Amino acid sequence: MNPMAPVDTLGRPLRTLRVSVTDRCNLRCEYCMPEEEYVWLSRDGLLHFEETSRLVDVFIGLGVDKVRLTGGEPLLRRNLCQLVELLADKPLNDLALTTNAILLEEFADPLRRAGLRRLNISLDTLDPDRFVRLTRQRDHDRVMRGILAASRMFDGTKLDAVIMRGVNDDELEPLLDFAASIGAEVRFIEYMDVGGATRWSSDTVVSRAEMLDGLAKRFGRIAAVDEPGSTAPADRFALPDGRVFGIIASTTAPFCRSCDRARITADGMFYTCLYATAGLALRPLLRRGDTDEALAGEIEARWSGRADRGAEERAGMRERSAFVPVSALRADPHLEMHNRGG
Ligand code: SAM
Repeated sequence: MNPMAPVDTLGRPLRTLRVSVTDRCNLRCEYCMPEEEYVWLSRDGLLHFEETSRLVDVFIGLGVDKVRLTGGEPLLRRNLCQLVELLADKPLNDLALTTNAILLEEFADPLRRAGLRRLNISLDTLDPDRFVRLTRQRDHDRVMRGILAASRMFDGTKLDAVIMRGVNDDELEPLLDFAASIGAEVRFIEYMDVGGATRWSSDTVVSRAEMLDGLAKRFGRIAAVDEPGSTAPADRFALPDGRVFGIIASTTAPFCRSCDRARITADGMFYTCLYATAGLALRPLLRRGDTDEALAGEIEARWSGRADRGAEERAGMRERSAFVPVSALRADPHLEMHNRGG
């Protein structure tokens, strides 16, 4: 690790960068984009790939060694493979992409050839009718074809499922079985009250404890997988048959204390927390000709002053409803999850 890399006020280094490449999405998931209308970023304002690549270099200089491309739906960004090519040669331990897999059948091979190393695929249900209710789109068969195509080309794929009470909380076992059948690892995600989750209510959250309890009743003793020093968001567990899965308990047991993630939106806003309401606009600095050193100085100053522990603060609240009201999301769409990238 770079000895000059900054740490924040809680001693957390900057290691992971989530790069959102578009705010557009081809799904309307109930937990992320439940509204009828959205305020979109202007296409002219998106960072060019060369600008994103330059920023990634600056972040690498500050300690980042994992980059994940996200969105919106990143495969909707035109010529995305060109960006992957620009990033593939950089000194990174991980270069991954998060996708809903609708376009993955077409893109799995070009992405792999461009140098992408890993995929996280969002899959909340195996039931096509439920998929329509959850996403307002009819593309479940495309998603499944995309996942199968990718599983033949990529190792280490994670399948991410947001578990909601009364929606898909009866699918933990089928998702575990499906993940095993394609050599992937499933991660169950607690429903978070972030940005776009305007219909969030605590009743709908299925906690990690509840998930583990249900799985233990079905399979027997569940063992925690010991991973000392891990900063991964998921805690990993093993079933008695050896299958390993993860749970991301951001709502009931947040991992803020080890969070090393920074985010940039498709138009170059830099955020130090998924829950942050203020960020730093990097695009004007890029376009007025700031040097790499100047950019690094701005980012480092933000990171060194970082005290965010948004999910922990939310977890400590007694009365909880959606974090951001719709009116505030309309006034600043950067607060949306589909801008932050999850
Ligand atoms: N379109 C891509 C995808 O579907 O993976 C990338 C963007 S999406 C915003 C990234 C991740 O955020 C997805 O795994 C999604 O399930 C998760 N997500 C969105 N809203 C969430 C919420 N309210 N609670 C928990 N996870 C959420």
